[in-house]
Amino acid sequence: MGGVNGAEALRALHALQEKDLEIDRLQKEAETLPEDLLALKARVEALEAELMALLERQAELRKAYARHSLDIEDLAAKEKQAEAEQRQAQSAREQTQYENRIQQIKDRIRELLELSTPIMEAMEEVEAAIARVEEVLTGLKPRLEELLRENAERVEALKGEILKLQGEREAMAQGIPAPVLKEYEAIRRAKRGTGVVRMLPKGQVFRCEGCNVVLPTHVAQKVIQAHLTRCPSCGRLLWKGEA
Ligand SMILES: [Zn+2]
Repeated sequence: MGGVNGAEALRALHALQEKDLEIDRLQKEAETLPEDLLALKARVEALEAELMALLERQAELRKAYARHSLDIEDLAAKEKQAEAEQRQAQSAREQTQYENRIQQIKDRIRELLELSTPIMEAMEEVEAAIARVEEVLTGLKPRLEELLRENAERVEALKGEILKLQGEREAMAQGIPAPVLKEYEAIRRAKRGTGVVRMLPKGQVFRCEGCNVVLPTHVAQKVIQAHLTRCPSCGRLLWKGEA
């Protein structure tokens, strides 16, 4: 392919690429969350993680406290039992044995109560911290929902715009020979962007707009004659550009 038809196809292809790049840009824009939303999301997620850790800590403390309480109840029952048995004691020696036993139980209960105090204090601290974090989260949620709603609307509008451009793009593609279009699309995918670039004059020679390499004369000649030509360096299709 060369001559008038080739020149026309390449011009149409370049215009189509403008449309493709605009669609790419809008798609990227749709995928990118606004800074304020990103920042707030990060803050809420950090607070939620903090809350989760506090709730876990609270559960551990409650378990430890319950365990101590059960042990204390158990010991109190044993103390009562020993006191009842002490009243039935037959000898002074037995009396003393029960007294020692009761004293041991009392000591153990006191130890457990002493251990329970810091647990209770920690529980109060954790409860206060949970309330603080929950309050901050409650305060942030409405703003987060507002920003999410705004973002959904923004994305929706962009999607509408993208659909419109895609329709225009399809119409433009009708005017381009299928093999040219196919080659362009393959290069664009490989290069993640441009599949057709202009050839730009640089003094007596030409360079590729895509990769800046100076093009050999025979390549430049073919491009000028509007043959379907690829840059020997970057592989993109070359267009001589508007005269
Ligand atoms: Zn190139």
